[in-house]
Amino acid sequence: MRKKSDQRAGYFGPYGGRFVPETLMAPLGELARTYDQVSRQRKFQRRLKDLLRDYAGRPTPLYFADRLSSTLGGVRIFLKREDLLHTGAHKINNAIGQALLAEHMGKGRIIAETGAGQHGVATATAAALLGQSCTVYMGEEDMRRQRLNVDRMRLLGAEVVQVDAGSRTLKDAINEALRDWVTNVRTTHYVLGSVLGPDPYPRMVRDFQRVIGQETRRQLRKQTGQDWPHLAVACVGGGSNSIGLFSAFLEEPRTRLIGVEAGGIGEELGEHAARFRGGRTGVLHGTRTMVLQDRHGQIATTHSVSAGLDYPAIGPEHALLHEQGRVEYTAVTDAEAVEAFHLLAATEGILPALESAHAIAEAVKHACHLSSKKVVVINLSGRGDKDVESVLEYDANKSGSKRDEAKASRHPAETWKNVVWGGDR
Ligand SMILES: *Cc1c(COP(=O)(O)O)cnc(C)c1O
Repeated sequence: MRKKSDQRAGYFGPYGGRFVPETLMAPLGELARTYDQVSRQRKFQRRLKDLLRDYAGRPTPLYFADRLSSTLGGVRIFLKREDLLHTGAHKINNAIGQALLAEHMGKGRIIAETGAGQHGVATATAAALLGQSCTVYMGEEDMRRQRLNVDRMRLLGAEVVQVDAGSRTLKDAINEALRDWVTNVRTTHYVLGSVLGPDPYPRMVRDFQRVIGQETRRQLRKQTGQDWPHLAVACVGGGSNSIGLFSAFLEEPRTRLIGVEAGGIGEELGEHAARFRGGRTGVLHGTRTMVLQDRHGQIATTHSVSAGLDYPAIGPEHALLHEQGRVEYTAVTDAEAVEAFHLLAATEGILPALESAHAIAEAVKHACHLSSKKVVVINLSGRGDKDVESVLEYDANKSGSKRDEAKASRHPAETWKNVVWGGDR
């Protein structure tokens, strides 16, 4: 489908590339060369595999969600439990991989950007594990919203630097991290948290997340006798957990792949973070991809109830997969995501991250159209403990809603059925 040579050059069709200041061209070149070399060494792969198994908790279970499945009419829904990993999300797969790479390059300092703080915590964790010093850049606004993760990073020994520029959120934190990297490139490796940024990050981060799809394939074969699902669904922020799952099934035409973006609270620019709904080709943080921007090319503000999906650009490989039509991209609203959060809590006893709840909500929309023999895999990218406050706040602000009326007499799953199908079943 895609030629290897395209990926070598750091392009995914017309997307990707290295749009960075001159000073970063050499370090990116060095990183790409080292990565290409080291990632093929058996010793590196074994060390990574051992840490992912013994420290992070791989393989994660592929769990048959029996009660969720029967609630939705019988289709067989499996959850890939990345939420059970150490630090609570898939981010650790990439953080450990890149920290090992830094060690290999003889760089004793790692830096990272973080939005909600999940990637910052994963990077601070990997740094402590390998005895590296760690600095994390975080917008002032995000630091306020995600106090607990700031404390976690500091307890892990990381320095958290407050970023006061721009909108004081993730995109400004990335700017600062890039600035630090330019200045300290000889001693420092920049651990980018998703399949974003200049080459080699999009393909490198994807490779570190591939393990999700590879395990899923093996586990499906064992548990269903068939090593592919009819439908695989994952949420798409930058796009790392989704590409990690999808990469195993891109060449399997029987698997329908759906990436779910943040639909937020409306269709207008600024009300969502759905890059394929209103985004245009542009360059952000060193890569050419689909970007939410205004008429003048200014980066748009975004909104989502889940901090991890709230970024104005999407990984360049997703831009190509969208263009090719291999992956479908949809958007789920804040309201639908919160509803799906409650559904999973009530039917399976699992609090999902609000990011992952977007994928659940999308799967629910398809479940009633699929026969009970069909297999659906949802990537549960993270656990929802971090979102408990947001969910309570969301519910409290939703006055006189359908959900509140129904809550008194019904089990949340019953409420959901009515929302989806508009009646009892
Ligand atoms: C960061 C995050 C995401 C979004 O990032 P991707 O790179 O798109 O995977 C999704 N889920 C969780 C739990 C996260 O922490």
